Amino acid sequence: RKRCIRISTGSKQLDVALNGGFQTMSVNEVYGEFRCGKTQMAHTMAVICQLPREMGGAEGKVAWIDTEGTFRPERIAEIAERFGVDGQQAQDNIMVARAYNSEIQCEMLETLAQNFATNQYRLLIIDSLISLFKTDYVGRGELQERQSTISLFMRRAAQMADEFNLVVFITNQVMSDPGASALFAGVDGRKPAGGHAVAHASTTRLLLRKGRGEERVAKIIDSPDCPEREATYIITTGGIND
Ligand code: ATP
Ligand code: MG
Repeated sequence: RKRCIRISTGSKQLDVALNGGFQTMSVNEVYGEFRCGKTQMAHTMAVICQLPREMGGAEGKVAWIDTEGTFRPERIAEIAERFGVDGQQAQDNIMVARAYNSEIQCEMLETLAQNFATNQYRLLIIDSLISLFKTDYVGRGELQERQSTISLFMRRAAQMADEFNLVVFITNQVMSDPGASALFAGVDGRKPAGGHAVAHASTTRLLLRKGRGEERVAKIIDSPDCPEREATYIITTGGIND
């Protein structure tokens, strides 16, 4: 029988707010404005996932769907150093797939299923979920098809989280179109992109924002087992930290 595992975020405060980190067998979404640390959190978790359980890890490999070209192997090496693990080995345990359009992004899930069947993987990162759909489906006329394709993608990701005991970690943008955002009830005036297609499939949602100075704030918006609370974190050379 599969047992649910939690992977640390790198910030103790945020881990406490999440009852120990992000859970396998669930889809976890972080959304927020640019430079709030979504991609940095993904890098941090990609290293921590590989660590022993007592260090907040899951002793597992990582798959990374990169839609914006923002994966940085050098960052992995820097974060690995913080945790005292070999940088090259940490990079080797991360399978990065660069997606250039939304169709390829969807197909990648099926390709990765073969890797996940080895039972060596515990984390699937999708950074970011929506960007390719935004450029591939333009205008109102294509909105419905876009939403149903995103919905299918999310459902498949959720199914794979369950089947392969994975943390699915998805980054999302905040909505830029005020007309469209009026369609969806949001929090703090910041609404995640993708509307219901994303909301329905996300188990836990975190809103990230900039705080005072270097500080960043994560707010749990939607969680099956955590109250709506906030935690602060910072971005360092060694990744997300307190
Ligand atoms: P976007 O919506 O544009 O994708 P994001 O939420 O993914 O944004 P990140 O790229 O995760 O944002 O975060 C960028 C921030 O991380 C910047 O403020 C940058 O200063 C900080 N950062 C990046 N590398 C380092 C590092 N080595 N040390 C400290 N801070 C860093
Ligand atoms: Mg990013």
